[in-house]
Amino acid sequence: MRTFVHSSRSSRVVFGFGTVDRLREEVGRLGCSRVLLLFSRVPADASARVREALGDLVVAEFDGAVMHTPVEVTEQALAVLRDASADCLVAVGGGSTTGLSKALALRTDLPQVILPTTYAGSEVTPVLGETRDGRKVTQSSAAILPETVVYDVNFSSTLPLGLSVTSGVNALAHAVEALYSAESNPLTDQQALDAISRIARALPRLADDPADPAARADLLHAAWLAGTCLATVGMGLHHKLCHTLGGSFDLPHAETHTVVLPHAMAYNAPAVPEVMRRIADALGAADAPSGVHDLVTSLGGPTSLRDLGMPESGLARAAELAAATPYPNPREVTAEGVAALLSDAWHGRRPTGGPAPAGDPLALLTDQVVASFAEAPDPRVRVLLTDLVRRLHGFVKDNDLTDSEWQYAIDFLTRTGQISGPTRQEFVLLSDTLGVSSAVDLLTNSRTPETTPSAVLGPFYVEGPPETALGNDISGGLPGSPLWVDVRILDTAGKPVEDAVVDVWQSNEDGFYDVQLPDLDGPVLRARLRSDGEGRITFWSILPSAYPIPDDGPVGQMLAAVGRHPYRAPHLHFMIDAAGHRRLITQLFVAGGDYLDSDTVFGVKDALVVDFTPHTGPTPDGRRIDGEWRRLDYTFHIAPLAG
Ligand code: NAD
Repeated sequence: MRTFVHSSRSSRVVFGFGTVDRLREEVGRLGCSRVLLLFSRVPADASARVREALGDLVVAEFDGAVMHTPVEVTEQALAVLRDASADCLVAVGGGSTTGLSKALALRTDLPQVILPTTYAGSEVTPVLGETRDGRKVTQSSAAILPETVVYDVNFSSTLPLGLSVTSGVNALAHAVEALYSAESNPLTDQQALDAISRIARALPRLADDPADPAARADLLHAAWLAGTCLATVGMGLHHKLCHTLGGSFDLPHAETHTVVLPHAMAYNAPAVPEVMRRIADALGAADAPSGVHDLVTSLGGPTSLRDLGMPESGLARAAELAAATPYPNPREVTAEGVAALLSDAWHGRRPTGGPAPAGDPLALLTDQVVASFAEAPDPRVRVLLTDLVRRLHGFVKDNDLTDSEWQYAIDFLTRTGQISGPTRQEFVLLSDTLGVSSAVDLLTNSRTPETTPSAVLGPFYVEGPPETALGNDISGGLPGSPLWVDVRILDTAGKPVEDAVVDVWQSNEDGFYDVQLPDLDGPVLRARLRSDGEGRITFWSILPSAYPIPDDGPVGQMLAAVGRHPYRAPHLHFMIDAAGHRRLITQLFVAGGDYLDSDTVFGVKDALVVDFTPHTGPTPDGRRIDGEWRRLDYTFHIAPLAG
């Protein structure tokens, strides 16, 4: 017979697809009518659905929740809450948004309705971790436990695969530690084992189809079960370690859980072999700790603390901190034991104790290759190569790649290299037409939202274009609609940037660049100008035209194979370099031009589509033009160099 105590306080739970539509009713059940809506970076259509569902109940919104619930943010949200005289909190997001809601509820005793969008499980616990002056302090109280949780599977379906894996393993960690908790009982055991098997089955299905509704439903169901375990029984070494690493070394929450869990399990395994056997069965693995490691590895999840930014020099201190105060754990926690555990986690080693994953030699091969990067002196090189190899191996496996398909790929890349030269950049074209250049570019822009968006360099830039004076004509007399360009370069504070070196280049009326026209004499439609004291450059040129990228090489074959056209929307290129500022490479697109919606390199951004206004009559510099000419006015904003 097993002796146990079970005690729980639970939230009301509404679970399903489309349950967002129940939010209004659930707020009403609590007797409330003035909602403060809390968000943090959930997709725009999700926030729109919540607003629609709540309608006029929403009296204020706050979207500033961040990880680890810093009190400064809570105070900002509290001011919004009080200004709006809200009588209820509705939080839509991951554990960070739930944390903010809990912090507000603790201070105001207002009821909470949480719609979770990750698998963190915080929504069903009476626990809050708050950060003040860089220290995270955890407390538990009845006022913290949300009254109602509305689980809408649709809202978790947009969580990207990487975050789904780490968040899923965060839930797995609650279930694993509940099973060997001193307070475990038959009910939490059942909940935990159910959660583990749902997570182990669902995560691999997401790798095939990240939106798989049944897999998403399983994961959210598991998140609820695992969160309930976390709320009911005490956790052990794993949670303590993750708390220490997150709090003292600012490591990301779910990722840290993902890396540490297999190693904490391996540490505890000798003390609870029977529990580990049950976990292994639920996972469908031969061994629990290495089973979790293999699951994470097969999904491309993080496996090493080093890759999360943990300094090796901090390991000993983390071990001391984790072992300093005694707490319940099935195996005695010693500083040396934890140091060895952390060293394994830092290096990303596969926990020993279990057999190599039988039947999956590919996973072993991937691990071997990744391990071969372990001593790379540049950590960034190691991270990038590790991830590249994992994804490439995953690509080979997921698509069941044949030898001849891989040979074709090698041949394709070989031909891409062979056709490239000083004036033909096939690799740039490949990167552009696969959208990779624009993806890098989008990331770059997102870091400096106050500057003019950048755009891809494209394959036709030539180093060192001819210097020309302001106001000159760079068209070399080629036919086309005359174009007067008058652009200013300002910094992010609006101050003119003098002496900026501005390279411009463009296509001719027929859509060709000079380097594509061997009969042309010298560089034309490209030049280097320097901005004056007002940060201004002016020059004459001709209206650029739409044009096909060179499609007589491997990239053209790829476009043909998928039925894509090779055209670029008409545009003018700019590369702006100024001392003390970040380089800006961008393009201005002709409003109303062809292919703006289907630019073959995915380079068009709304902010860069501008009027090239038609004019007749006098020109800005008195040049005589019969008939129509165009004028481009634009202001670029460039960012100062950081630091
Ligand atoms: P999070 O809430 O910070 O979310 C992680 C990222 O996912 C964010 O960038 C968020 O914008 C994005 N995101 C969330 N849902 C999304 C969706 N559906 N689609 C696309 N993007 C989405 O991270 P988390 O792991 O959910 O929560 C971590 C926080 O929760 C930590 O502060 C941790 O301490 C706390 N936590 C508390 C408890 C508890 O019981 N008190 C339990 C677990 C976690």
